Amino acid sequence: MRMILLGPPGAGKGTQAVRITDKLGILQLSTGDMLRAAVAAGTEIGLKAKDIMARGELVPDDVVVGIISDRIEQPDCARGFILDGFPRTVAQAEALDRVLKAKGIGLDVVIELTVDDGILIQRIETRARETGGARADDNAETLKKRLDVYHAQTAPLVDYYKTTGLLRSVDGMASIEEVAAAIDGVLAEF
Ligand code: AMP
Repeated sequence: MRMILLGPPGAGKGTQAVRITDKLGILQLSTGDMLRAAVAAGTEIGLKAKDIMARGELVPDDVVVGIISDRIEQPDCARGFILDGFPRTVAQAEALDRVLKAKGIGLDVVIELTVDDGILIQRIETRARETGGARADDNAETLKKRLDVYHAQTAPLVDYYKTTGLLRSVDGMASIEEVAAAIDGVLAEF
């Protein structure tokens, strides 16, 4: 199973990805986690990404495409993977298509978590207060910036994957259990 979880920051992609990982025994590949690890380790990529991430902007496409194409080459991805936070631009989606095609494989499904912006902003503000900004990019201002970036650069992927027939949409505003059940319903098709 090779799938993408699509949705804005705060939509619950990470929570659902972990659950699907446990259920299906496939890996969650989060470019956000990989970039944070690179920042923590002080690698060349980490140094490049650090300030961009703190501002809530996107790191360059070639950086994340490179990370993902190297990662999915690894033997532990042979059974499949869930992409969480990648692709985030149409250029990344096109690059992913090329990488997968070169390997003779393709995507099975793209699950979009749909959310209401107003509610999301409330959630984002609550999360920023509760975590006290545990992540460098977890303050209300940066999170709102990330939401703007999502609408400008990532939301066009909804149409991109609609055109390919891979897109399934799930109400991301429901409870974690309800979202999980709706995702399981989609996955039951496969
Ligand atoms: P996330 O944990 O997915 O919310 O990602 C945190 C931050 O990492 C984002 O705000 C971006 O700065 C960066 N990032 C993660 N994934 C990508 C991606 N696919 N393309 C560009 N930047 C990314």
